[in-house]
Amino acid sequence: MSASTQKHPKGLYVLFATEMWERFNYYGMRAILVLFLTKALLFDKVFASQVYGSYTGLIYLTPLLGGYIADRYWGNNRSIIAGGLVMAIGEFVLFFCGQFYENAGLAMPLFYIGMGCMIAGNGFFKPNISSLVGQLYPKGDKKIDAAYTIFYMGINTGGAIGPFVCGFFGDTGKSGDFKWAFFAGGVAMLLSVATQILFQKKYLRDPEGKLLGEAPADAPKWFQKIPVMLLFLLGLSLIMIALVYIDVKVVSYLFYLLLACILLIAFIVFTDKSLGSIEKQKVLVIFVVSFFVVFFWSAFEQAGASLTFFAEEQTQRNVGWFTVPSSFFQSLNSLFVVTLAPLMAWLWIKLGKHEPSSPYKMAAGLFLLALGYLWIATGVDGVGPGIKVSMIWLIGMYMMHTFGELCLSPIGLSLVNKLAPIKFASLLMAVWFTANAFANKLAGVFSALYPENGKHTSFAGYQITNLHEFFMFFVFMAGTASIVLFFLSKKLKNLMEQ
Ligand code: GLN
Repeated sequence: MSASTQKHPKGLYVLFATEMWERFNYYGMRAILVLFLTKALLFDKVFASQVYGSYTGLIYLTPLLGGYIADRYWGNNRSIIAGGLVMAIGEFVLFFCGQFYENAGLAMPLFYIGMGCMIAGNGFFKPNISSLVGQLYPKGDKKIDAAYTIFYMGINTGGAIGPFVCGFFGDTGKSGDFKWAFFAGGVAMLLSVATQILFQKKYLRDPEGKLLGEAPADAPKWFQKIPVMLLFLLGLSLIMIALVYIDVKVVSYLFYLLLACILLIAFIVFTDKSLGSIEKQKVLVIFVVSFFVVFFWSAFEQAGASLTFFAEEQTQRNVGWFTVPSSFFQSLNSLFVVTLAPLMAWLWIKLGKHEPSSPYKMAAGLFLLALGYLWIATGVDGVGPGIKVSMIWLIGMYMMHTFGELCLSPIGLSLVNKLAPIKFASLLMAVWFTANAFANKLAGVFSALYPENGKHTSFAGYQITNLHEFFMFFVFMAGTASIVLFFLSKKLKNLMEQ
């Protein structure tokens, strides 16, 4: 292959930058979310964990709506811009929440409004930017996989810098400073939108030069005017505010809603008479794999919750001349993705025809996750409340988790793509997103089990009285899931390849 055919279109780098700034905003804000809740707004860890779970759970659910509306009415470009602007508004509202954090009567409404805007905006930004990446190439182009890998680097460049910058300005030990983290996130989001607006016309074009991400020709024009779109999204934000508020303050319903979504989709697909039995078996693989990834992400996403409590309270962060803010630890996963991904790519090439199939890789991902928790569980064994341990435990754990992510995450979407019958491609992608939403909500529930001050918690009969037992919970959960998936892998591989 000549060098020129290997070159990627410039549009990929536009999407790289747009996504990088958005992830900066998302992960930067997430890095300080539970710290802000516990240290400025003075909530306990259980409440902070519940907010974290409901917020991140809904963040993965709204892309279903954002993808649907973009396909039918708005197109990708407008959805990204409008969604991005609403996210920026969300960050600036949170900035004011941080400004008035001592006045609960003002800070709390601002907090829920900020969350609602972030959730609604993200739903329109995230699915649409991801789908534009593939559209830059001719159908079936071999470069698409590499394009998504480069894009994944953009995600993680933002994911590494965001917590770092937001942590530097916001997580200073002074409650009044948290607002600067939200401010930095808002500025990043504006840069993201500006990148998209400035470069989309010139570079976001298909191989024939046709502009990508346009609204469908037959869609009503009035609904595509930016003010109307913003109004619609702000209305949606109101619904999201209510959804977060009800889930954390009134009744925890989100689990049931997500479960109902999955069951409904399963019902629609499996009762469809036009699908043959082989197609249905392939769809079954999507459901089985989605089930297993829930165990992965629910343990992995402790990063923004219980693992941040741990970094804050029980990790020795003083390096003499500087105390490392606990939010910095949330950069580690992305930092490791950027540095370790080439190693993993090399490994798969080196293994050649012995490269494991997707289900085996996923089982390995779960195993590495369990190993990471085993590492940190060892580090805290016998360590009493309030005693600080070396940073090496968290750093080592994040490294193992990232190796796990690199086994499991990149193949997920392409697996769904390959196995889904065309007719149900989007609906089955929705299953994948819903599984992620479920996992994030569950992450909040698990984080609420974090033991402190002699408080005992339990989950499904498993008693947690100290940090060692808390981390071992994830070892057992991910370890069991890994072993079961490992034994199912051969069967799944056969079902996939028939
Ligand atoms: N870290 C990646 C992102 O933010 C993937 C996270 C996930 O799939 N749950 O896009």
